[in-house]
Amino acid sequence: MPEATVPFKIFRYKQGQNAGHYDTFDVPIDEDTTVLVALQTIRRDQDSTLMLRHSCHHASCGTCAMLVNGREELPCVVNVLDLRSSPVVVEPLRNIPLVSDLVVDMTDFYARVNPADRPYVRHSEFLPWAQTPDGIDSYSRFENCIECGACVSACPISGTDPDYYGPAALAAAWRVVEEPRGRQPQQALNWVDNEKGCWRCHVAFECTEVCPSGVDPGGKIMALRGELSKQKLRGLFGFGRR
Ligand code: SF4
Ligand code: SF4
Repeated sequence: MPEATVPFKIFRYKQGQNAGHYDTFDVPIDEDTTVLVALQTIRRDQDSTLMLRHSCHHASCGTCAMLVNGREELPCVVNVLDLRSSPVVVEPLRNIPLVSDLVVDMTDFYARVNPADRPYVRHSEFLPWAQTPDGIDSYSRFENCIECGACVSACPISGTDPDYYGPAALAAAWRVVEEPRGRQPQQALNWVDNEKGCWRCHVAFECTEVCPSGVDPGGKIMALRGELSKQKLRGLFGFGRR
């Protein structure tokens, strides 16, 4: 039984239109209805032209990321009643090219996070030469990244500088440094050591705030800076390696 009807104000845009607009739909919900299910209900019962992306329905795939009331969220795990707002405003991710309605084009994002010449997504099977860090408590795997794009959407630098590599790609680079597993850490460090890379970040950590998977991309960017700074000091003053 529906417990309530909640208005949803949804960003709409189709290819060829000059600008987007918002449509409002009243959606019956119950105590278990998530924002994603509400959007699917709209698509099924009210407007089949509403475009959105989703897959797993349980925060594992990152496919459905979008703005809910102005914040980057995975709508599959946002309960509508928990929002306590009316209307619920739903918009596509920022800083990623818009395709239609709530759908953005992730092509460039995926290419930056896992470039063909520096593959960061690795098989997780044990490799004999794998380096495992001391102390599992101080270690978070980049493989936690579900490539949702929320960090790039929240990053003000990604919003103003399309050449900035962005928090997800930089966090992926740190994973190669942190745990090389046969990759070349210096290659990753060289890639980020410029004004499109880790030095462009302005250290406000919006990316870390919105990451649904605990990757802490802002912290990883600081780790890249720390490692590069150590290398530069060693070069200047001839410090020995730690
Ligand atoms: S900390 Fe850096 S990467 Fe993260 S949102 Fe801020 S500017 Fe972007
Ligand atoms: S770092 Fe976090 S917010 Fe960014 S793409 Fe990966 S999971 Fe999403």
